[in-house]
Amino acid sequence: MLDFSLSPEQLDLREKARQFARDVVLPVAWHYDEKDALPLWVLKKANDAGIMNSDIPKEYGGAGYGLVEGAIVTEEIAAACPGLATSIFDNSLGFEPIVISGNDPLKEKYLPEIAKNGRQICFATSEPMMGSDVAGIRCRAEKDGDDYILNGTKYWITNAGVADYMTIFATVDPEKKHDGICAFIVEKGWEGVRVGRPIPKLGQRTSNTAGIDLKNVRVPAENMLAPPGEGFMLAMKTFSRTRPIIGAFAVGAARSAMEYAIDYAKKRKTFGSSIHSYQAIQFKLAEMYQRVETSRLLVLKGAWEADSGMDPTITASIGKFYATESAMEVLNDALQIFGGYGYTKMFPIEKLLRDTRLFTIYEGTSEIQRMIVAGYLLSAYEPVMPAIEEVPVLVGADEPLFDEDGHPADTQAWRCPLCGYVHYGEEPPEECPHCFVKGKGFAKVWPR
Ligand SMILES: Cc1cc2nc3c(=O)[nH]c(=O)nc-3n(C[C@H](O)[C@H](O)[C@H](O)COP(=O)(O)OP(=O)(O)OC[C@H]3O[C@@H](n4cnc5c(N)ncnc54)[C@H](O)[C@@H]3O)c2cc1C
Repeated sequence: MLDFSLSPEQLDLREKARQFARDVVLPVAWHYDEKDALPLWVLKKANDAGIMNSDIPKEYGGAGYGLVEGAIVTEEIAAACPGLATSIFDNSLGFEPIVISGNDPLKEKYLPEIAKNGRQICFATSEPMMGSDVAGIRCRAEKDGDDYILNGTKYWITNAGVADYMTIFATVDPEKKHDGICAFIVEKGWEGVRVGRPIPKLGQRTSNTAGIDLKNVRVPAENMLAPPGEGFMLAMKTFSRTRPIIGAFAVGAARSAMEYAIDYAKKRKTFGSSIHSYQAIQFKLAEMYQRVETSRLLVLKGAWEADSGMDPTITASIGKFYATESAMEVLNDALQIFGGYGYTKMFPIEKLLRDTRLFTIYEGTSEIQRMIVAGYLLSAYEPVMPAIEEVPVLVGADEPLFDEDGHPADTQAWRCPLCGYVHYGEEPPEECPHCFVKGKGFAKVWPR
């Protein structure tokens, strides 16, 4: 049976996250947005409340939640502040490579510190000269005895300014592209690690984004998370599992924008009537709800696939670009419903729109998601329907094609390989009367 309902435990978790979002996150969101600062105490409270880091497996001190639970929690936090949702969730992005790696000593060393002591960990593939093309990483990892020495700069790294640990992707040789990529866990206090000033941003100002400079950073062999040649796949597997959550950010932000727009539409009057009585406004609201609901379905499907042990890559990509682009449309329509007030900092839509704009960029842009999906469609997708030339488009027949019992009649049909013209007769024609292709290229298409 197909079941779209949440379990009682998931409903409880959603209620807990909702309360946290309304009581802790919402009241501080605009203040810290204006200050362009990440309130670390919110992250500590989130960890204490069991809605951060809870996807760490139970044996390492987490709650062992799956991605479905992650999506449920994230939607609620993002509904209050997408920036703080990024700050909270990106710890999961940071430790996900440890969780999915087979490296038990690193799991034992770092995951309990994160789960129990609220340590922060960031995830770094991007660099000043490279974001989408992960195989183009330039940060160098050189072997020195059993250790590795890292040199290079990572950029755009969420939570870099507050991270205790860093999941760093580097390369043993940029020429090797995918085959050279490796990954390490680096600690903030190690010699040669420097974090840049926070990067000033359009939105997501309650989340810290900074560069990391690595100069002759010695990483002990045991902190290698993925050896050369395995780092690229580790990054991609991580993204497949984290992209549904980016979709959940978008669902939360869009849902809030829709709710605020419904409320405002009921209260604002023009020409003597409430604007919610106008069909132009109602249609916008209906489409907002359609986008929120369809996005959530896709997001949860991707999360469910991951939790069920399937490869969620394609659904995760579809869900990411669908939900994040839909959210921008919802935000845009919501701002329109608010009229001039929507464009001000004194109403909630402006910040939501700035925050939401990021979602089509990080963890793989919309263009990259389309490339992933198109690549799958053109190589691995298994069609249900026959190839074009085998589709029985039997048009223009003068003779009956079936007898009274539905069996093929004696009529034979030949199809032009180029323009699709169907010729009826015992032999193919000399040439196609439409496109002049020689008849010997015609294929017999009836009887099949
Ligand atoms: C606020 C913020 C937080 C971030 N957090 C992190 C983080 O925690 N860790 C981390 O590693 N990174 C992080 N990033 C980086 C983010 O993942 C990259 O910005 C993103 O992957 C895009 O890379 P880029 O900015 O270098 O753009 P580019 O790769 O230079 O792309 C520029 C444009 O060209 C398009 N494009 C590129 N290649 C193609 C192609 N083949 N076909 C069609 N179009 C193409 C892109 O879609 C984009 O529109 C963050 C970024 C921001 C802004």
